[in-house]
Amino acid sequence: MLKIYNTLTKRKETFEPLNPPEVRMYMCGPTVYDYFHIGNARSFVMADIVRRYLEYSGYKVKFVMNLTDVDDKIIKKSNEEKLKFEEVSKKYITAFFEDIEKLKIKKADIYPKATEHIEDIIAMIEKLEEKGFAYNVDGNVFYDVRKFNQYGKLSGKNIEELESGARVDVDEDKKDPLDFALWKKAKEGEPYWESKWGKCRPGWHIECSVMSCKHLGEYFDIHAGGNDLIFPHHENEIAQSVAATDKPFVKYWLHFGFLNIDNEKMSKSLGNFFTAREVLKKYSAEAIRLFFSQAYYRGPLNFSDELLEGAERGAAKLKNLAEKIIREIELNRTEGEMPSIDIKAYEEKFKAAMDDDFNTSQAAAVIFDFVKEVNRLIAENENIKAEFYKNVKEFLDKTAVGVLGIMDFESAKTVADESLTGDLINLLIDIRLKAKKDKNYALADEIRDKLKELGILLQDSKDGTTYKIEK
Ligand code: AMP
Ligand code: ZN
Repeated sequence: MLKIYNTLTKRKETFEPLNPPEVRMYMCGPTVYDYFHIGNARSFVMADIVRRYLEYSGYKVKFVMNLTDVDDKIIKKSNEEKLKFEEVSKKYITAFFEDIEKLKIKKADIYPKATEHIEDIIAMIEKLEEKGFAYNVDGNVFYDVRKFNQYGKLSGKNIEELESGARVDVDEDKKDPLDFALWKKAKEGEPYWESKWGKCRPGWHIECSVMSCKHLGEYFDIHAGGNDLIFPHHENEIAQSVAATDKPFVKYWLHFGFLNIDNEKMSKSLGNFFTAREVLKKYSAEAIRLFFSQAYYRGPLNFSDELLEGAERGAAKLKNLAEKIIREIELNRTEGEMPSIDIKAYEEKFKAAMDDDFNTSQAAAVIFDFVKEVNRLIAENENIKAEFYKNVKEFLDKTAVGVLGIMDFESAKTVADESLTGDLINLLIDIRLKAKKDKNYALADEIRDKLKELGILLQDSKDGTTYKIEK
């Protein structure tokens, strides 16, 4: 039975989706004004693992991740780079998709964009205004936080405490420092949409209330994001959605811990970050995912080359076994040893770990124990049947590949295919050499010509024959 720590209730709860086997899940996606950093990647990868484990457990997951494609940071960047704001967001949306693919993150079912939901955003703000939760001050529409009596429940903060720490920017005319903008009056040169309040653009929080509701319904199962979003972003989303629909909004709130550098949150504003694409040049996706998996998802994790190098060594162990498995399955040995291994017991342990609030580090440890036992059996037995390797692969495919994404049989297959091709060509080279020695020049030439037709060029020299594959 899966248990999830719910930020809303502050305890581990048995996971009971609203409408099983369906699970509706929303994750706050990137603001597309730059390449995302490896800290963002931690949140994206962990959300991916949660989603994959739910699917492994038999749920049908509808996964939505928004793209914030109009925002202060995007506008700032467009001014700096003398580009239209749409050009900035388009560029970084393309980069976002390239990077998540490299990180082997499964694509969401929908990636809604803020700019494609303006009508719905206006409709929700109108509803909030009608219900007395929003007020307009000269084209800026604010949410009236004091009207919402559950405010602070998610973050565990009380209104008075918040009020004393709040700061009002001089250019804002809100009634209360805690109030936040739903709809912002566009300044000169900023993108805008026409509305009854004037030429404006949406605030950030309202986007997520609108897009989650539109694609997942008014009350859905899981809402995820990094820790930094608990307050104010998610607190504000609850205030907006509950006030607009009179429904509870989200059943389970899931938050991912920060990736830190020297115990400080990695962030664009602090400048202490590495982009995911930079890190991917040095380390494999499997190693990066293993590095993330080795920490509890809710706690902090320190970024360091030592830890990533360690993860790369772990990933290499899995890769070596994957290549061996692929080669053995291709050999398809039907006679031989069939060492006994209790795969079911490993699967039970894997499930128990993941069911305990996604204990990925324990789950990864189960995988490594399993791999250790398999390697021992391979060392102890001479000729093992392909069936053994098929059983081993089936388990790893479901868990290490399918859930954690720390292993990959596809690239192992390419390596195995390439080495098999090389072995076959060398075999033909040997046969040709033998034919030449036997003065069977017709056969030797035929081998060379037929290989040429396949794009494989043989080059004879005094040291022997080498080959080149024409691309
Ligand atoms: P942003 O583009 O800044 O809105 O962030 C996209 C996602 O990454 C959000 O879910 C953030 O909470 C998350 N995030 C940002 N910085 C970090 C970090 N250092 N560690 C983990 N997650 C982060
Ligand atoms: Zn959001």
